[in-house]
Amino acid sequence: PQLANQIAAGEVVERPASVVKELVENSLDAGAGHIEIDIEKGGSKLIRVRDNGSGIAEQELVLALSRHATSKITDLDDLEAINSLGFRGEALASISSVSRLTLTSKTAEQSAAWQASAAGREMQVDVRPAAHPVGTSIEVLDLFFNTPARRKFMRTDKTEFGHIDELVKRLALSRYDVSWQLTHNGQSVRRLKAAVTDEQRQKRVAMLCGRAFAGQAAFIENRYGDVRIWGWIVQPQACSAQLQCQYSYVNGRMMRDKLLNHAIRQAYGDSLGPEQQPAFVLYLELDPRQVDVNVHPAKHEVRFHQARLIHDFVVSALADALAQLRP
Ligand code: ADP
Ligand code: MG
Repeated sequence: PQLANQIAAGEVVERPASVVKELVENSLDAGAGHIEIDIEKGGSKLIRVRDNGSGIAEQELVLALSRHATSKITDLDDLEAINSLGFRGEALASISSVSRLTLTSKTAEQSAAWQASAAGREMQVDVRPAAHPVGTSIEVLDLFFNTPARRKFMRTDKTEFGHIDELVKRLALSRYDVSWQLTHNGQSVRRLKAAVTDEQRQKRVAMLCGRAFAGQAAFIENRYGDVRIWGWIVQPQACSAQLQCQYSYVNGRMMRDKLLNHAIRQAYGDSLGPEQQPAFVLYLELDPRQVDVNVHPAKHEVRFHQARLIHDFVVSALADALAQLRP
């Protein structure tokens, strides 16, 4: 079974940032309001994600590390209306097959915390008592220590950390209600308090996308039936190379979706010069049954059931907003 895990790891775990993504998505699924991410040497030495979510019960620790064990799908209908971020039940198994993984957790019902470790192919999981507040910490040491070919593919610490930071940025833009902390080699890189008010959200956008973006961006919001779009866009005249901010989300998931990108481009029309890029942070929200997210975990694509309608709504909502921004 560990071989199967390692093969799956080839798909799920491309680089340290993919580990961070899986771990943080689990934390979010567990309802965490605070997430701390500690990285050493670009993630090749250590990736630690600590949350204050619901925790994992002692008797479920071993199960959490085994393949296709997910607590998130109970019947087929769930697959349709899936709202949680992970649902394949293979991330932890995959990651533990290519690293030395320690899972420490405590639920609110338990009086004490428990810890389980697994390392590489021999996956000897042992469970022992530990100290930990309610929530979960997962420590991933020596990523790819037993898969030298993959290890060779890792870039410099700086590059790998850059991918992690970019990911954390995208995640922090998707969950304003969560406070985030990111360190690299013991140095604080990002520290974001939970943002509740519009002003606090705006401040987070400024911290993540830069003051230039925040200074130029206008807040927009529009609805059509139960489809809603909101976020910040920059009028074409102000779109410059410095405003490298292109983030779009569908029901809270970060996306690089062709249809959305096409719609955004079309809304700007030919008001953008050939070397200009639109700058935006946009959130599309719709009934989860109207969109398939059950695609390859590493791809940031979705399938809208009413693709045409969504496309046209986005174009007209943004075109309207841009028209109003024109001086
Ligand atoms: P999936 O997320 O697809 O269910 P994973 O391999 O990522 O599969 O995680 C396996 C299981 O471990 C989850 O279904 C969940 O029950 C549990 N789990 C993992 N991380 C956490 C966490 N941070 N907090 C609470 N439970 C967790
Ligand atoms: Mg998961």
